[in-house]
Amino acid sequence: MPVLVQYSATRFGKDMKILTLALYNDLTRKKEKFIPIEEGKVRFYSCGPTVYDYFHVGNARPFIVFDVLRRWLEHEGYKVTFVQNFTDIDDKMIHRAHQEHITVAELAEKFIAEYNKDADALGIRRPDVSPRATEHIPEIINTIERIIANGHAYVSEGDVYFDIQSWPKYGSLCKQNLEDLEAGARVEPGEKKKDPLDFALWKAEKPGEPSWESPWGKGRPGWHIECSAMSSKYLGDNIDIHSGGVDLMFPHHENEAAQSEAATNNGKPFVNYWLHNGFLLIDSEKMSKSLGNFLTARAAIEKYPPLALRFFMLSAHYRSPINFTPEGLEQAAAGVSRLRNCKSDLDFAAKTRTGDSDFDINKFHDELKELDKKFSDAMNDDFNTAAAMGILFDVVSLINTSLKNHDKLPEEFFTASKNALNTYDEILGVIGPDEAECENDNESAEIEALIQERTQARKAKNFARSDEIRDTLKARGIILEDTPQGTKWKKEL
Ligand code: AMP
Ligand code: ZN
Repeated sequence: MPVLVQYSATRFGKDMKILTLALYNDLTRKKEKFIPIEEGKVRFYSCGPTVYDYFHVGNARPFIVFDVLRRWLEHEGYKVTFVQNFTDIDDKMIHRAHQEHITVAELAEKFIAEYNKDADALGIRRPDVSPRATEHIPEIINTIERIIANGHAYVSEGDVYFDIQSWPKYGSLCKQNLEDLEAGARVEPGEKKKDPLDFALWKAEKPGEPSWESPWGKGRPGWHIECSAMSSKYLGDNIDIHSGGVDLMFPHHENEAAQSEAATNNGKPFVNYWLHNGFLLIDSEKMSKSLGNFLTARAAIEKYPPLALRFFMLSAHYRSPINFTPEGLEQAAAGVSRLRNCKSDLDFAAKTRTGDSDFDINKFHDELKELDKKFSDAMNDDFNTAAAMGILFDVVSLINTSLKNHDKLPEEFFTASKNALNTYDEILGVIGPDEAECENDNESAEIEALIQERTQARKAKNFARSDEIRDTLKARGIILEDTPQGTKWKKEL
């Protein structure tokens, strides 16, 4: 009987889901009960990459952790609409396109494809909508027009600026007052603003830069306005969750909130829950392109299994800083192997050791159920994946101990154990598919046939042939393990 599925009927009862999930909200700096705007639905916007290059392991952190939050919300029964944008026009895009002697659009096309390749490899599910700034110029212009009409932005020689002095709430997300923020602000050459803190909603055309027609002359959007315009297009003016790295809190998210709320001017908040992940550090410094201390996700995947990268990110609480070290990644890879071994041991034992037994299946169900509750509690406690991963290992220990202590086990044990692992894997994505699932049937059958031939060769003491088969399979990344019940195989990570 599929145990976890059985619990879900009660655990995901209507009242339960609203009562249990708490998220740390950067707007209030408190952990708060999560109450969606619309019952059973979550409107979720996450700031996506600027597509001028491959993304690095630091950027991968928000992509992975918020993908897992989205999966958890869905698992809890919410219908989630998850939007993550591509920033495909800004100074960095223009500069890089010039360097490469290609257009900004060609650069974006290339790195959106590369983003998707790496994100897919990392098991990050595609968003429901992945809007691009340059495909939303009319929406962006409309948002700016509304902000101007409401008296919170002004036109200055073809640029449009947000008028900070007209917006008393400015600084309420980053919790800084205007005076302190003013002290850190400066006017860049060529900017024509009233106040150093005012920021550009629209930038007048410069020679050699892409531009679009607008009521203020030809130009291009500023960075922050795209997220305001696209989030309201796909999710409405008031959304549940908005996420990104902690560096986006100021100025990007502060500005987004000011713009969106100034455009609607109805006193309603743009976002109910602001979530920010902590930095991924390398040698105690933020991994970043500008510091040059980065490793691209592409290079990391070549060096370490993608599942290990996910495991590494989820082993820490999303708000804590984490240090990226080779040892950390190796430990994560060892953790993934332990999880995968449990799954393949289960599969193998299910084929060879199902049968009558004195195993106490009811006690096992109770223990699994207890761990499942702990897992839920961890995930509902500000989405504590670090604690949840610990519980997953408790589940693995429980399964391993049962396998070790009993020669035969009932079918129900195998079904419940596999269901438990699969359910946790659907949420965390750190175990990965079985060999049998990831290979086509022909390949599996071929491997099984070679293993049988090797068994025969060993019986006939033809060790040259049996070693040859082992080596051939090893070269294909297939590892054999001989056990009293027969030969098991698995794919190397
Ligand atoms: P960008 O493409 O620079 O806008 O960054 C994409 C996402 O990565 C944003 O949510 C950033 O806040 C986040 N980010 C950038 N560097 C790091 C880092 N070292 N650790 C964690 N998140 C980061
Ligand atoms: Zn954004």
